[in-house]
This record gives sequence, C-alpha cells and structure tokens, in this order.
Amino acid sequence: MITRHEFAQAQKRAAAMLRKAGIVAADREIADMDVADFGLGRLHIEGAQIVTLAQTERIAARVIVLFPGQTLPEHRHPPGKSDPGKEEVVRGIWGTVRVYADGQPSIAPGVIPPGKDALYTVRHETILKPGEQMLLPPGDRHWFQAGKDGAVLYSFSTLLSDAIDEFTNPQVVRKTRIEG
Ligand code: ZN
Repeated sequence: MITRHEFAQAQKRAAAMLRKAGIVAADREIADMDVADFGLGRLHIEGAQIVTLAQTERIAARVIVLFPGQTLPEHRHPPGKSDPGKEEVVRGIWGTVRVYADGQPSIAPGVIPPGKDALYTVRHETILKPGEQMLLPPGDRHWFQAGKDGAVLYSFSTLLSDAIDEFTNPQVVRKTRIEG
C-alpha cells in the first residue's frame, strides 16, 4: 500500500526521467502510469513505474522507469493454456540497469534488498546501458535493479495477463493499493 501523495510524487519523478531519456509520451499515458509497490509498501526499495505505450491481446510495449537503486522484484512469466509464457526483451534507454537471470552467479555483495536473500534466487548479472538489450525467455526468472542514477528501459513482450506473473516473494500483490 502506498499513499496517494507517494503515488503522485512517483509519477511526477518518473515523468521527469522519461523526458530526460527523450521518450515522448502523451499526457494520458503519463496519467495512466502504473506505480507498483508490489504490495510491499516500500516503493523506493522494491517497486517500478511502468508506462504502457501499446498493448493488444498479444503484444505489449512498455517503458519501465526505475529510481536510483530501485529493484523490480524477481518473477517469471509462466506458460498459459496455449502459450509457452510471456517472452520479453528489455532494452536500456537511459541510465544503467542490472538484470539478473539464470546462470553462474555474478552478483555483487549488497545488491539484494536487505533481508530478502531467499526471494532473489537468480543471480547472474548483465548490465544494460542505453542501446543494449537482452531477451528474457518464457518461464525464466528475472529481476532488475537500477544503478545510482536510476534507469529507463523498454520492455517489449508478448502479452499474457500480468495477473499470472509469478513473483518469488509470496507477499507480492501486483495491483497497487492506494491509501485514502
Ligand atoms: Zn518480466
């Protein structure tokens, strides 16, 4: 749960980062920006700001804004009825983002949010700078963390409902609840 004030402040700050990154978005897209605290109530540690540029029943183009050091919690996109699961490409636009996925652990100490060791299980680090991208195969766990200036990235994906995304942390609630 976050307060209405926190929600509005986060939208404003993320919109400024979008402009800095040179992303043109309509006022309506900014107003519809998702500020996700994942039900954990500490947005600036574990959270994400997400602008949807395009979405159909089959594809989605989004911009993810992460504040300095903000972590988008570990999750995977499980298979659907007739689909192997959401396939996602993330591409750096501005700032630096560390992407963690399966593979030989190469994470630096102190990166995982304090006390959450068991909830961040994939630890192979890839650093994405602007213009660099990587594919996250369907069903594979992944999580992101912004560098010290924050990060703006594209997420291009096939769309299966976000509601079925599986977060490693059972306490995650994907839909943001706003207090008051
Ligand atoms: Zn994902």
